[in-house]
Amino acid sequence: MAHLLISGGTRGIGKACVKLFASHGYKVSSLSRSGRSDEIIEGVTYYQCDVKDPEEVGLAVKSAVRSFGAVDVLISNAGISVSGLAQDMKFTDYRDVMDTNFGGLFNLANAVIPGMVEQRSGVILAVSSMWGQTGASCEALYSASKGAVDSYIKSLAKELGPSGIRVNAVSPGVIDTDMMKCYSDEDRDALCAETPAGRLGTPEEVAETLYFLQSEKASFITGQIIGVNGGFLI
Ligand code: NDP
Repeated sequence: MAHLLISGGTRGIGKACVKLFASHGYKVSSLSRSGRSDEIIEGVTYYQCDVKDPEEVGLAVKSAVRSFGAVDVLISNAGISVSGLAQDMKFTDYRDVMDTNFGGLFNLANAVIPGMVEQRSGVILAVSSMWGQTGASCEALYSASKGAVDSYIKSLAKELGPSGIRVNAVSPGVIDTDMMKCYSDEDRDALCAETPAGRLGTPEEVAETLYFLQSEKASFITGQIIGVNGGFLI
């Protein structure tokens, strides 16, 4: 049975992925700081792990591989955002956002790549953001961290393609999760109005795209940043 290792599988987009992959019979290992989910899903093991810390990631991945075998699919999903004027951001904000959003991908990929290279197969996916492509006012650090994710994904695709490993990212628009809680109703209405589809996206819509990208149906797709944004960014 295939093994999915995902970061941030306890809420939002990650949780939708966990449910979708488990429903298709995947064994799922989810890494998050809390290590707890409000829902018990069969075939899923939750690890307490901060993706910022390479040692914690290494230990969690080793433990997951002992339980479920080599990782077939990695989804680097855990992310945080911080809003405010660029000039007001502190160095600690920079470290938090970069080390979680980009460092998390770096740590997770480093932990699974040797096993995938040995198997000569595997899929690495990241959850990026459309702001990484366009930049967002008052979310400069977040945008920069996702820009780094996009470049890293493209580079990994080139480096790992000859080893039979595909590497892609999804780039969501505005998705209705806890991350949106900091927005007022007026802000949410404005974001809906800016989205040609006229609404926020759902975590399930992002999960379905990730499921497709890891499947054999996407066997010739690598190094791509796939928008899931209701037309917000065209
Ligand atoms: P949520 O805030 O709903 O969930 C975030 C998840 O990441 C939680 O499971 C959280 O668990 C985990 N997490 C956060 N920090 C860490 C860490 N340091 N180590 C391990 N796990 C961590 O976010 P979303 O589902 O909305 O976002 C998921 C991804 O999608 C993120 O990368 C985000 O940037 C991206 N995205 C989201 C958009 C949106 O509109 N919602 C739009 C574009 C991109 P815990 O707190 O227990 O650690």
